[in-house]
Formats: sequence, structure tokens, C-alpha cells
Amino acid sequence: MSTEVNPFESLQEQIDDAADYLEYSTDVLERLKHPERVLETNLSVELDDGSVEVFSAYRSQFNGDRGPYKGGIRYHPQVTRDEVKALSGWMVYKCAAVNIPYGGGKGGIQIDPRQYSADEIERITRSFATELRPIIGEDRDIPAPDVNTGQREMNWIKDTYETLENTTEPGVITGKAPESGGSAGRVEATGRSVMLTAREAFDYLGKDIEDATVAVQGYGNAGSVAAKLIEDLGANIVAVSDSSGAVYNPDGIDARDAKAFKSETGSLTGYEDATEELTNEDLLTMDVDLLVPAALENAIDADLAEDVQADMVVEAANGPLTPNADDVLTERDVAVFPDILANAGGVTVSYFEWVQNRQRFYWSEERVNDELETIITNAFDDLVETYEETGAPNFRTAMYVVAIQRVVAAAEDGGIWP
Ligand code: GLU
Repeated sequence: MSTEVNPFESLQEQIDDAADYLEYSTDVLERLKHPERVLETNLSVELDDGSVEVFSAYRSQFNGDRGPYKGGIRYHPQVTRDEVKALSGWMVYKCAAVNIPYGGGKGGIQIDPRQYSADEIERITRSFATELRPIIGEDRDIPAPDVNTGQREMNWIKDTYETLENTTEPGVITGKAPESGGSAGRVEATGRSVMLTAREAFDYLGKDIEDATVAVQGYGNAGSVAAKLIEDLGANIVAVSDSSGAVYNPDGIDARDAKAFKSETGSLTGYEDATEELTNEDLLTMDVDLLVPAALENAIDADLAEDVQADMVVEAANGPLTPNADDVLTERDVAVFPDILANAGGVTVSYFEWVQNRQRFYWSEERVNDELETIITNAFDDLVETYEETGAPNFRTAMYVVAIQRVVAAAEDGGIWP
């Protein structure tokens, strides 16, 4: 994994790459490359032993031309201001790629949550929510889960916001538990769009997903759900990994069983049905039909990309390839289906959750999944149409062309003021 690549610079490079296929002046493009504002805050929180620790936390509001800022909050030791800025920009283009009425934002706390008790995480979360309160709101900025956050944290943020504002406004945040206004299908939505993208991609490239071999790097919510749903299409998941390492079985790993093992023991290492234990690097360079990076950014750099043997990559994580890795894979004819399409299921069902919250009328899981499928397959069609029309070198650049056009159109409608 490359830690030297700054994800914010990667985002800017991806926009520049797409700009070659668009006729915009540099001032228009410049606006697309920087966040509108970033909140940087230091949370002083009392720990269980009575001591006080200070945590750096951020919220970046990248662009609001198409609607309220939207995007998750992550808890991770690697969170930095630039990482949050990059992730907020990717949200802008993700929401535009699948054509849902949002801008992009992202937040994060620099913390290893495994080192803290549930009570401490609650105080840290409510402290962050208090800092966020003036800048969020269902028409302003709508946070959601991301790495190491989920329903529990979303419920606390909603409760803190509603208590301080003396209101009920469940649409201020998405990814809540169903009892607190969450949507059916939200937990599985990111993995589901990865599966739908893989399914459409195999079809478009004239390949059969049944019996295809698949490796999944990262076995959190996105990776494990993607593995399970891709397995349901008849594919053979031969390797999965988490931060402890990878497990392999050429006859296939049962995606659900591996998840149950990880939930029980805390890691995939020692999984009984594996024939071999490998490193993450071994997994990323395995000879498979489909590779799904589902962990953090920069998992594949240019050096590693030279050794990638997969025929196709579908990105479940945000930013798992460095721009140089992208160039290498383009050169080597490995088809990469980008994060801003493949993992957009999460924010798409967040959009459905927000719509349901505002209407106070809740949908069945079947309806959620049907509407999600329509949005992802339409976006896939927009992608291949632009890919074929523009002659863009790869699917990422073509998807950015689609997304940037939508953002610029909205910005032009509004004009620059004052
Ligand atoms: N954190 C997810 C993402 O990166 C979901 C964001 C949302 O639901 O707003 O797309």
C-alpha cells in the first residue's frame, strides 16, 4: 500500500484527466477541484478513567451546486484534513454520476475506535455532533456512515442534533437503525451496487459471471456484502482478506460463513475452510476474473498494478487505486469500474432514506432494492455511452466526464454570486 500518495491530489488529477474530454475553461475547472469549506475541530473528551483526550476531527463541504452536501463520517487513525477533502470531492462526483440531487461532503475523526469503550465512543460522537450542529441539517449537509461507523453512531448524532435543536428531523443523517428512521436495505446497499456494477460489467464485456473467480480485499460492510451477493450470482469467491491477512481456497470460500467467522473471532486469520493464508499483496495480484478492492484508499500503487493479474477491477472502496496505478492498468487493458459508480449504492439508499424521512412514509426492502437497481443500471448505461462516444481511455475518466458535466450544468444555472 502506498501512503505517499495524497488522495486530495489524486482527486484533482482525476478531474484533470476528465477535463481533456470536456471543453471547459480553467476557471470553471478550478472550482471543481477545491472544497467550498472545511471545518477543523479538536474534540476534548473525558475518557472512562477520568483523563481527557483531544481528537482531531474534520467536515469538508466540497460542492453544493446540485443539492445539500452529502457523505459519511469515518473513524480511523489515518484520517487527515486532505483525506477528508478528497473523500468529500469523490462524493460530489459520485452523487452526480448516479444523478441523485446532492452535493458532496465528508467527515472524519482521527481515532482508532478499537482502543475505546462504547461509552467513550458515544461521548466522542456526541462531541463531534455538537460541533457539526450549526453546519448540518436535512437541507444543508447530511452525514452518513463510513469506515468504522454505523447505525449506532448515526443514531447518537441524530439524537444530539434533535435534542439541541428541539425538533425531530430524522433526515439530518442517514444510515440510522430502522427504529430511528433508517431505511430497509441501507446496510447492504454499498455491497449491492458493487454486485450490480460487476454484473453489468461482465455483461458489457461479454463475459460470464457464473463460475468467475473473485478476490475481495477488505471484509467490512462493503466487501463482505459484495462477496455474498456476487456469490449469489454463481461466481466463485476464492480469496478474501482483512487487515490481518488473506485466506484462500481455490474451490471457493463461503462468503457468509467467512463473515460469521470474522464477526465471532474479530479477524479472518485462522478461518477453517481456507486451504492457504496469504498476504493482502498476494490477494491483490492473484490470477482471478474479478478483483474487488474494498478497504481503504491507495491499496494498489503503480508497482503493484504491474503485477495485478485480474481481468477486471470493481472498486468497492473509495480511491483504492493511485492515479499511477490507474495509468498502468489502462495501459495493460485491465478494465476498472470506478468507485464513484460501483460503491454509490450506499449514498443512493441514503437518498431513499432521506426521501422516506421527509415524507414519513416507509418503503419495503423490495422497493428499495428495485429502485437502487434502476439507478445503478441507468448510471452504467450513461457510463458506457460516454465511454464509447468520447473515446475516453478508461471507465473512470468516462464516469467523471458524465459527473462533471452535471455539476457544471447546475453551477452555471446558479451563476457566480456575489
Ligand atoms: N460513506 C458512503 C460513501 O462513501 C455513504 C455516504 C452516504 O450515504 O451519504 O459513499
